[in-house]
Amino acid sequence: MKLSHGLKMALENNELMNASQEIVIKGIGGSPGICIGKAYIVDREGVDVVQQYYLFDSDLDAEIDRFKKAVANATKEMEDIIASVPSEYHEQLYILETHKVLLKDKKLYDKTCTMIEANKINAEWALKKVSTEIRRVFDDMSDSFFRERGADVAHVTDRIMRNLTGNKPQEQIQDINKRVILIARDLSPAETSQIQLHKVQGFVTELGGKTSHTSIIARTLQVPAVLGVTGAKEVITSESIIIVDGTKGAVILNPSDDSLIEYEEKKSISERRRKHMMRFSSKPAMTPDGAQKKVMGNIELLEEVVSVLDHGADGIGLYRTEFLYMTSNELPTEDQLFENYREVADLMYPLPVTIRTLDINGDKKAGIFNGHEETNPVLGLRAIRYCLKRPEIFKTQLRAILRAAEYGNVRLMFPMISGVKEILAAKKLLDETKNDLLNDKISFNGDIEVGIMIEVPSAAILSDLMADYVDFFSIGTNDLIQYALAIDRGNHDVAHLFQPLHPAIIRLVKTVSEAAQKKKVKLFMCGEMAADPFHVPILLALGIDEFSMNPPSIPSVKSIIRQISTENMVPFLEKVLKQQSPDEIIQIVQDTYGDLFKETIR
Ligand code: PEP
Ligand code: MG
Repeated sequence: MKLSHGLKMALENNELMNASQEIVIKGIGGSPGICIGKAYIVDREGVDVVQQYYLFDSDLDAEIDRFKKAVANATKEMEDIIASVPSEYHEQLYILETHKVLLKDKKLYDKTCTMIEANKINAEWALKKVSTEIRRVFDDMSDSFFRERGADVAHVTDRIMRNLTGNKPQEQIQDINKRVILIARDLSPAETSQIQLHKVQGFVTELGGKTSHTSIIARTLQVPAVLGVTGAKEVITSESIIIVDGTKGAVILNPSDDSLIEYEEKKSISERRRKHMMRFSSKPAMTPDGAQKKVMGNIELLEEVVSVLDHGADGIGLYRTEFLYMTSNELPTEDQLFENYREVADLMYPLPVTIRTLDINGDKKAGIFNGHEETNPVLGLRAIRYCLKRPEIFKTQLRAILRAAEYGNVRLMFPMISGVKEILAAKKLLDETKNDLLNDKISFNGDIEVGIMIEVPSAAILSDLMADYVDFFSIGTNDLIQYALAIDRGNHDVAHLFQPLHPAIIRLVKTVSEAAQKKKVKLFMCGEMAADPFHVPILLALGIDEFSMNPPSIPSVKSIIRQISTENMVPFLEKVLKQQSPDEIIQIVQDTYGDLFKETIR
């Protein structure tokens, strides 16, 4: 097989098990599970190769018209796609509408027209330049959610480009008529909305990550997805049989007979277990000695409420609210936010919904959050820091949350708290917001629980002081691990060092747990650490009351909780705390509770 340089590099960086036969390529597990099937390559042309030429002054107006016509055609295509979306996929419409709006976005549309005129260049060249510039801004962002919004710009550019050049996609994605595994560079929401999704066994994409549209769709469909697989389209051939392991984030090409047998077995075992666990998923997560725990869902979109309920969640432990701020070039209005939160609260009632206030990245170049450039945005003006600096944006969200709280069981949570002063400042703005609503004679529910995320090490260390001002702590291990171990959570090169069972992390959680117990503050965990059944024994020993996670993980975490007695966990925890490395801790969990995991999907 002839490998491109890029692919060779990709394979070298990955695990090359047997070059002549079986190849394992690693990526990011975007949706768990295993599938075995035929690959279907979505061969969409990108905007990489475009014609470039200079124009005479006399041709400029006609060129701008040509560009405008291409955008008008692209808009018409989007409208046709939107009109053809079957009602069961209507939840995706907002993404398509966003793309339609993006087509005419000032930064893309006006700038391209200006670029044609100012530089006297053809429309394709101007569009490519403008699009690349916008995408660079997104690519530079450290938060994966925003980084992936650059893909939206790429999809829109691609559509205009095809209308300019007259190139149509090489195959009709909507015509897929057999069960396949889709392989694509990236899948736009417009494309996924045209696929008959029940035909898709799994997804493999070269771009994207855990928060990209493909991941969200795959998780909702409960099919495996592996993303960020460099060179996938080059190395995987259409119609070849491949294995996708979304749990491990691996794609196996040219699988040997042994691997096929092994994975078929794994798949049927895990499907059997999942079905079995789903049967019990709505049952309470009570330990054999009667400790009542809660297992909740994390969501980013209103549409994910269905999955949360289907998987038997006891509520929503984390509603990440950034999405509505990213779907438009304008800030969402109070009423738009209110309607969204009200619907989530209402659908979940009487179960609790924990709405986290805006955790916007500190990178001020981001669309509506324009501002100065930051060298290290993850340590910059992010989340609560941004909100405290822009109280008008923060208060609009708080008003919406307080109003929605009338319609359900809503809790309020502040992200990225690093010291007591920030809680006091946030709570002061909350009180002011309640007064404003009273003065405006707008009805709301001000009697809601207020908590903070513990995701900055200083917050964990100061948790005894923090406890005086909040109703609950929710430990965000994704960031807590990143900040405590100095491991960029999105960097593949150090991913192996991102270890939830690191002794330092366990000690930080213990510190928080002791403060919570002493001050009678409820203790939750909503970072990914809570989603892995293997972590459950230690988290039970550390006194976590509520576990919140991606919805498909709920049944297996509940199942493990039901099998572990919280009595006599002291010696187990003492032993864990004596260990010097994550490996030693893993061994102790394995030695003590290993039998339980044989029957659990991880
Ligand atoms: C976390 O940091 O653990 C968390 C849940 O928040 P996010 O992943 O949204 O940063
Ligand atoms: Mg976080």
